[in-house]
Amino acid sequence: MITRIVNGICYSPEPLGQTNLLVAGRQIAALGEQAELEGSIVQTVDASDCYVVPGLVDSLAHIIGGGGEGGFRSRTSELKVTDAIEAGVTTLVGVLGTDAVTRTLTNLLAKAHALDEEGLTCYCHTGSYQVPAYTLMGDLLQDLVLIDKFIGVGEVAIADHRSSQPTVQELARLASQARVGGMLSGKAGIVSVHVGPSPEGITQLLQVASTTDIPITQFYPTHMNRNQALLQMGFDYVRQGGYIDLTTSTTAQDLAQGEIKCADALLQAVKAGVNLQQVTFSSDANASLPMFDAQNNFVGLGEGRIASLYEEMTDAIRLGVPVQDALRVVTANPARILKLPHKGQLQVGADADLLLIDKNTLQLKAVMAKGRWLFSDGRVAVQRSSLFF
Ligand code: ZN
Repeated sequence: MITRIVNGICYSPEPLGQTNLLVAGRQIAALGEQAELEGSIVQTVDASDCYVVPGLVDSLAHIIGGGGEGGFRSRTSELKVTDAIEAGVTTLVGVLGTDAVTRTLTNLLAKAHALDEEGLTCYCHTGSYQVPAYTLMGDLLQDLVLIDKFIGVGEVAIADHRSSQPTVQELARLASQARVGGMLSGKAGIVSVHVGPSPEGITQLLQVASTTDIPITQFYPTHMNRNQALLQMGFDYVRQGGYIDLTTSTTAQDLAQGEIKCADALLQAVKAGVNLQQVTFSSDANASLPMFDAQNNFVGLGEGRIASLYEEMTDAIRLGVPVQDALRVVTANPARILKLPHKGQLQVGADADLLLIDKNTLQLKAVMAKGRWLFSDGRVAVQRSSLFF
C-alpha cells in the first residue's frame, strides 16, 4: 500500500511548511514535491488543519511495570499497547526498575517483542537499578553485543535511598562496559541513570567524566525535573556537554514536593538559553512513583502514565515553546541519543512513524507506525485483538 498524506503542516521536527508526504511499505518514500504519485494503489489522506510530525520516542518506560515499594500488592502493572498508541508513542525503550527480582530481563525482552508484533518498535536496556548490574548472559558486554534488543544499560539508581549506593569507580566501570558494548555492536551503549532526590544529584557522573576518559555523553540522567535545584544542576550539566532527561509522569503529590512539570521545565530551558538538542522528555510509564515522609518511610504510591509524554509536549506548545522545540525533545533528540537513525524524524528513508495532530486543539487525530495506521477516528487498531476471543 502507498499512502499519500497531503496538505499537512509538517515538522521533521524542523518546520517544513505545508507539504505532502508519501509512505511506501513501512518507510517514508518521498517528501514535498517528490510526493506527487497518483493512482489506484494510492490511499490519499487529507491532513489539512493538522500538524504532521514524527511518532514520539519514549526513552524510558517500565513496560513490564516498575517497583512496588509498598509490598507485593503495590506492584505496578504492565504497559498496555493501546495506551502507548493513544499517547502517540511509536518507539519506546523498556527498562527494569526498583524491583529487578520479580521483574526479569527475560520477561522484559518478551514484552518488547510483543510490542513489536503489535505494531510499535521497542528496544530495551540491560542492567538494573542495582550495581553490580543484573544481566542475562553474565555481563553487560555480552548482553549488548549479542542481544539485538539491548541498546543500553539501566536505569541505574544514584542519589536515592533505594539505590545500591554505587561508588564513582563502580559507575565508571559500568559506563566503560556499556561504551565498549555499544562500540562493538554499533549501538548507543548509553547508561540510563535514575537520579533520586538526595542533594548530591549527578555529582558522581561529573566525577566520572572528570577523572576518566569516558565522555559525559555516555550517561543519560533522568528525573532531572525532580526539584528546582536538580533542574538547575541539569542545565549546568548540559552546558558541560551532557544530556538530561525530564520525566513527564508528575503527580499532584510530586508537584507539592517541588517537582517541576516538564512543560514548565522546558520553558525554563528555553529562557535560560540551554541547548535544547541535549534535552529530552520520557514518560517513566508504569513506574512506581512512591511517596516517602521526611524519614523515608513509605506513605503511598502513584503509577507512571505513558499518556503524560504527549500531554507535556502539547502543554509546552500551549505555554509558547516553539512547536519544533516541543517536538524535538520527544522525537529527534531521544532518537539521536539512542542511536536510532531511522526514528524520530520525518525524512526520506526513515520509518513511517508519524502523528496527525489537530493544529487548533492539539488533539491527536491519527497514529501511523511502521507504515500502518494504528489509530484513527478515535479508534485503535491492533493486531493482538484478532488473537483473543
Ligand atoms: Zn527512575
